[in-house]
Amino acid sequence: MKTISSVTEFLDAQQEVLRLIATDSDLTTILSKVCELIDLFLGKNNVKSSILLAENNKLAKGFSATLPQPYFDALIGLDIGPTVSPCSSAIHSGTHVIIKDTTKDPLLVNFQHLITDYSLYSCWATPVFDNSECAVGSLNIYFDEPKMPDSSDIQLIDKLSELIKVALVRTKEAQDLKQTLKEITRVNQQLKVFTSVLPDLGFITDEHGVFVESFGGNKELLIYPNRSFHHKTIQETLPKEIASLVADAIDKLFQSGESQQIEYELDVAIGRRFFEARMAELTQYNPDDQAKRYVLSIVRDITDKKQAQIEAERLAFYDPLTDLPNRRLVTNRLKKLLEKVKREKSYGAVLFLDLDNFKRINDSLGHSIGDKLLQQTAHRLKPIIRSTDTLARLGGDEFIILIENTEATVDAITEEVTVIAKKLLSAFKDPMHAGHSSFQLCCSIGIAIFNDTYAGIDDVLKQADAAMYRSKKQSGNEFSFFDPNLQSIIDQQIEIERDIISAITEQQFIAYFQPQVSMSGDLIGVEALVRWAHPVKGILSPYLFLSVAEQFGLIQKIEHQVFEQSCQLLLELMAKELTTTNFSIAVNLSAGEFKSANLATRLVSIVNKYQLLPSFFKLEITESMLVDKVEQSINQMEQLKEQGFKLSIDDFGTGYSSLNYLHTFPINELKIDKSFIDKMVTSKSGNAIINAIISLAFNLDIKVIAEGVETEEQFSILKQKYVSSVQGYYFAKPMPKEDLISWISDRNRISDSLA
Ligand code: C2E
Ligand code: CA
Ligand code: CA
Repeated sequence: MKTISSVTEFLDAQQEVLRLIATDSDLTTILSKVCELIDLFLGKNNVKSSILLAENNKLAKGFSATLPQPYFDALIGLDIGPTVSPCSSAIHSGTHVIIKDTTKDPLLVNFQHLITDYSLYSCWATPVFDNSECAVGSLNIYFDEPKMPDSSDIQLIDKLSELIKVALVRTKEAQDLKQTLKEITRVNQQLKVFTSVLPDLGFITDEHGVFVESFGGNKELLIYPNRSFHHKTIQETLPKEIASLVADAIDKLFQSGESQQIEYELDVAIGRRFFEARMAELTQYNPDDQAKRYVLSIVRDITDKKQAQIEAERLAFYDPLTDLPNRRLVTNRLKKLLEKVKREKSYGAVLFLDLDNFKRINDSLGHSIGDKLLQQTAHRLKPIIRSTDTLARLGGDEFIILIENTEATVDAITEEVTVIAKKLLSAFKDPMHAGHSSFQLCCSIGIAIFNDTYAGIDDVLKQADAAMYRSKKQSGNEFSFFDPNLQSIIDQQIEIERDIISAITEQQFIAYFQPQVSMSGDLIGVEALVRWAHPVKGILSPYLFLSVAEQFGLIQKIEHQVFEQSCQLLLELMAKELTTTNFSIAVNLSAGEFKSANLATRLVSIVNKYQLLPSFFKLEITESMLVDKVEQSINQMEQLKEQGFKLSIDDFGTGYSSLNYLHTFPINELKIDKSFIDKMVTSKSGNAIINAIISLAFNLDIKVIAEGVETEEQFSILKQKYVSSVQGYYFAKPMPKEDLISWISDRNRISDSLA
């Protein structure tokens, strides 16, 4: 059946198929052409052929030059298996399935209509393989008569199957490539947009630091946003030290294979910025030259973060008022200095500087004046201190100076520190100015010299502090060196502190009570005054321990005990029916307690514990506690008042400073200080001040109580003024609870017997 002409025709047709494959034609065109080729070569009129491809174990696609749609409709969708159809069977077995007479074969029972409709009387099905030799389809050749292939037919068919395989593999590859290209384009597009909106900058440099590529939308972060730096080296584009930092990082990156991170500061188009660069090796960047190495750097502007960090550090280690190092920083440095002295076997020094009488200015003129004076002080002291030394503010009006330049001998350091101390004192020679006034400040300085025999920071600071106190005692404006004899004072203080702590747990603090009486002599309440019932020293006055307790933060615990004892007294008086209407207990509050945030809640919870009302208590706060932060003070007073506590201003008149605000304070009572009562009889001005205070209170509808009334004369003068009650030795001294109870019962008995 094969003629020479048909062989050339075949070759031409095969050529055509290969051309189609090479030019990326679609699969239908190619496979239809293959079928055409088969039909042509095997006999145009009595042969029909088809190619069926399988997917997911089913016949899925079909191609043919001659067979019509109903043929495919019957086959597409059939399972791949041994007994479904010749095509399925060829794919399933991977071998030829030759059926000589289709009318007689059981495999084709269901397809008899196709056989007769299209004259498909014999069927040769040959598997088609993919690259991995897996059967993926079949080439099916039908004759219009029963027929068997000879060996040359089989050879030809196998060649055709090979050709189909080439077509399949090529189109699959082409498809994959197209898909990959699409994917790459998509990712590329994404990346382009991504990098254009990225706040970071990206650079690709080669192993010699030559810029190859850059991306990122934030051109303002470049040194020259309008000039190209491509093909230039980092040395040509960056300042010298940064270029070498980057070059080092590149070296390290190549050596260790680990990504690198560097930080630097750089002047760019929008000013000086902090940058963080993360660098990693970019592999396979240049496929044409695999040996060449590249670095990808992502550079981020971290100026905001850095500034926040610097600010946080400043807040943590610097005093916001004066910008000087704070306690924390100076303690760190002192620790290092002590280590240095130990190492070197040398001597170092610390100066403790405290302004004289500053508290008085602060209390009477207010904090804003005080703050200005502290700033000026810092400003004047700073130039005296060498840059290697540290001037710090400890808080309040206390400054500290570390001489970090150590000396080999005591004499040398003493000489050096003496010069500095003199300069520090003379810094106060000229008056300072704040508001419209000028102030002549001075200071007291204490100096501690130390070598490696001193144990720790606390020792050194305590010694300097003790020396400073000695300067203060010697009239101020002085400097003194720590004298070992002073150590005993320090030890004493430590002992008191320890004593107070144990006294609190052992309940040695007891409340004494001093009666308050009306102008007609009726008892209206008592003031609770604390005493320390010391097991060895006896009953101690609050003047002896309260300031130490306050200094060590122990006063609040003591006050709580006083408050609890006041509650207990009240319960006892009530049980014995010894209280009158409006009876109240005055309790003193310390500055620290008054400033504490949850004071009202805490006091209420104590009162509740004894099932009493807050209105039984009059809280005494001193005038000086109020001038500090007026808004906050008013707020605190409002809270206490809201809970029902009464409020009284103690020692009134000694500070003057709160007169302006008096009308805004929600108070019930003013307590005229004893010093005015003392002067009342003897001095005209004393009397005038009392009258002024009284008329002020009268106008503001605030009650007045006088304290420290010792004589009948004082009492009778006060009776003629707008004073509602008095307290003083003339009536009774402060006394323990039991004494007070008998004092009240005795008075009641006397007045009963008089009635
Ligand atoms: P203060 O609150 O001004 O108390 C009045 C002081 O004057 C009391 O001294 C009292 O004993 C004394 N005094 C009363 N009448 C007379 C008198 O006629 N003549 C003389 N010469 N003195 C009189 P005390 O009890 O020694 O208390 C001293 C200061 O200690 C109190 O002054 C108060 O500031 C403080 N204090 C006492 N107890 C407490 C407390 O529980 N908490 C707080 N924060 N401070 C307290
Ligand atoms: Ca008081
Ligand atoms: Ca007082």
